[in-house]
Amino acid sequence: MTLVAKRRDDYRAPDFTITDVALDFVLAPDSTRVTSELKVSRQGSHSKSLYLDGEQLTLLELSVDGSAAQDYQQTESGLTINNVPDTFTLRIVTEVNPADNKALEGLYLSNGVYCTQCEAEGFRRITYYLDRPDVLAKFTVKITGDKASLPTMLANGNPLESGANDDGTHWILWQDPFPKPAYLFALVAGDFDQLTDTFTTQSGKSVALELYVDKGKRSRGEFALEALKRAMRWDEETFGLEYDLDIYMIVAVDFFNMGAMENKGLNVFNSKFVLADQDSATDEDFFNVESVIAHEYFHNWTGNRVTCRDWFQLSLKEGLTVFRDQQFSSDMTSPLSNRIKQVRVMREHQFAEDASAMSHPIRPDEVIEMNNFYTVTVYDKGAEVIRMMHTLLGVDGFRAGMDEYFRRHDGQAVTCDDFVSAMQSATDIDLGHFARWYSQSGTPQLALARAYNEQTDTVTVTITQRNAPTADQTEKAALFIPLQIEFIDATGQHVTPDQAMYADNLLIVDKDTTTLTFTGKGSAITPVALGNFSAPVKLTSDLTPAEWLHTFRFANDAFSRWDAIQQLYNWCIEQYYQQQPHAVDENIWQGLYQAVEASLQETEILGECLVVPSFETLCQSRSNIDVHALNTARKAFSEALAEQLADLLLTIYQANQTDAYDYQPEQVRARRCKNVVLGLLAQLPECKDRIIAQFEASDNMTDTLGALKAAQHHDLVLFSNLMNSFEQRWHDDPLVLDKWFSLHATCERGDILAQLTLLRQHPQFSQQNPNRVRAVVGSFAFYNTTGFHADDGSGYRFLTDYLLELDKQNPQVASRLVTPLTQWQHYSSTRQDLMKRQLARLLEDSGLSKDLYEKVSKALA
Ligand code: ZN
Repeated sequence: MTLVAKRRDDYRAPDFTITDVALDFVLAPDSTRVTSELKVSRQGSHSKSLYLDGEQLTLLELSVDGSAAQDYQQTESGLTINNVPDTFTLRIVTEVNPADNKALEGLYLSNGVYCTQCEAEGFRRITYYLDRPDVLAKFTVKITGDKASLPTMLANGNPLESGANDDGTHWILWQDPFPKPAYLFALVAGDFDQLTDTFTTQSGKSVALELYVDKGKRSRGEFALEALKRAMRWDEETFGLEYDLDIYMIVAVDFFNMGAMENKGLNVFNSKFVLADQDSATDEDFFNVESVIAHEYFHNWTGNRVTCRDWFQLSLKEGLTVFRDQQFSSDMTSPLSNRIKQVRVMREHQFAEDASAMSHPIRPDEVIEMNNFYTVTVYDKGAEVIRMMHTLLGVDGFRAGMDEYFRRHDGQAVTCDDFVSAMQSATDIDLGHFARWYSQSGTPQLALARAYNEQTDTVTVTITQRNAPTADQTEKAALFIPLQIEFIDATGQHVTPDQAMYADNLLIVDKDTTTLTFTGKGSAITPVALGNFSAPVKLTSDLTPAEWLHTFRFANDAFSRWDAIQQLYNWCIEQYYQQQPHAVDENIWQGLYQAVEASLQETEILGECLVVPSFETLCQSRSNIDVHALNTARKAFSEALAEQLADLLLTIYQANQTDAYDYQPEQVRARRCKNVVLGLLAQLPECKDRIIAQFEASDNMTDTLGALKAAQHHDLVLFSNLMNSFEQRWHDDPLVLDKWFSLHATCERGDILAQLTLLRQHPQFSQQNPNRVRAVVGSFAFYNTTGFHADDGSGYRFLTDYLLELDKQNPQVASRLVTPLTQWQHYSSTRQDLMKRQLARLLEDSGLSKDLYEKVSKALA
């Protein structure tokens, strides 16, 4: 198979546009009829044919201005209509098969609910269309369906009219007054429980809020509805952005490839990001629901009112909207734990992507399958790039830039450059160099080194920037990096360099080498760099373990304090990995003990500091890794930490018991701290009763899951017993059972493949459902280090066998799950060979999807 990539540079404005769309759906499980009437007009003067995208459609009728079209050609991917007038009405009747749609793109059935997913290029599976984001049209949608089984039938915008037919069907007509690209189209029909509310906007307009969930799940939707109102208020207060339609609808569906989708006025959500109550959801679930609800709501301005010109510009809406939801979550909960969460994603997943064959800039240059580019790079690194602009411009400058962006581009489909240029209008800094973050892939590496000159009593701090070649780009240039940095001396006092910096604590690192000097301040100056993770870079430095502890004690920036402990852990684990655990000496253990002892009251940072860096994070600063040695080193260090701190950990565990469950920040911090500590203690033999006691006394899912995770680290018998009792309680609740699936799949045991086979036979497992597949196969491939990386290659083979099956049904999900197999770069060469052997098996499959083909062929290139 050879497939041609599309290139960003090849963008051309469309030859035709569509201004008005009237769709008419007659719903039936395996033969839904779609009639589409389009007002088409030629753009510019040319005599080209009209080409419309369309896949997997049965064409029943085609007419131009009322007469049956004769001069047209159909292919697998579209329809060419020749000799069309400059403006005309095109009528297209097609038939699709929602029941047979396992890819969950276009129109499909999810547990008896009809729903659509059109981003990025799914609308072409509903009808022939100019399926590209720079064609904006006004839509009206008529839906006809069985009245008894589909009492609710929804589409974008406002309901205009409805009625019943004699044959047991009913119909409804929807109209969306805002022109939109096809990817924001949505239709839903089913039988739901409904929650309603109203929101009054800052200008006094009343908006009806409607949330649709599976029958019987009504009470699990209340939190999402409250979160929505908080998000609406926050966007008014922070960015002056108000909602623009009279009605805002959210539907939760059980089968969904991604998290959620921002269709205009009608968001469709993976039920995992809507449904939450104390019994069934963890604190983390509540957090995620609030953040995804906010994310999709914020898209109404950053995505829908101003959309992308082409899909290469995806980060225009996604990077910006992730940044906005991060700021919201931080305001609703707490800045520190949010920032740490975001940085973990960058260090565990985004750095890995940048180091792999899938490396791409936040604005990609080349794409075979667009669905492969909904990545941590476009989303999370994209958000980091927006955050750097926020840092450089300041809160007011950033707001002024946003205001200008909407003033210029409301109602348009634009580019990342358009965004940067709106931001440029609000600052004196030349963003020209900064904008290279959009075009350059890879993780910049900063190295910080010191030298002391006794004669002049001068410490010189040199920061070098290196941008190594990546799979997609050989030529790199220095980036414009805002580096938050503070300096402390031996007594813990803050000192400043001889040179002026950009602002207090902010240094611009925009060259290969940047130097600062400190004269007359002694030799012991500790730089604390990358405060608040001010840029998405890797940083190495020449700090000693004692200096990391010193940093924890005296730095002002809370993130840096946390990071100092993480760097120290990383250093310690390296000693274990190098077979010299004794290098982690009494001084270090004592220093750690004192650091923890001094922080007993600071529950938030304490809880985060007691988390040992993940295996995935450790990999990002190493190469030629011996997987089992590193994993063992990590565990040995973690166990030693538990032993050394045991009495303190017990104190913390007891001090952080909470009252009756409530999802509020103080309790969340206490539970987080308590469960992290339990996880550490679980490595010690005497912890069994404590785990059981927590499991039995728990009145909420957070503590229950905390106990199960601890048991997983403790011993297999205890783990199995608690897991069985959990399953008895939750066996008919798939969303909760996903946690159980995932815990089983991440358990490091010799017979894990047999376990996975059992899980796949579980009555609640379904290969059609992405959440189940991710819980079992995803958890295994991403997080079961010993199982996935078994020395005989059996873990890789298992994943490959599974993907060969799954790809035939759902290429999007298959393509996400292949990720760990493509990220072989950090491992030893024998392991790389084992992984590539399985990738090669995938490539041999002649029926491989575009999605998998793109990732696998790159990984083998
Ligand atoms: Zn988004």
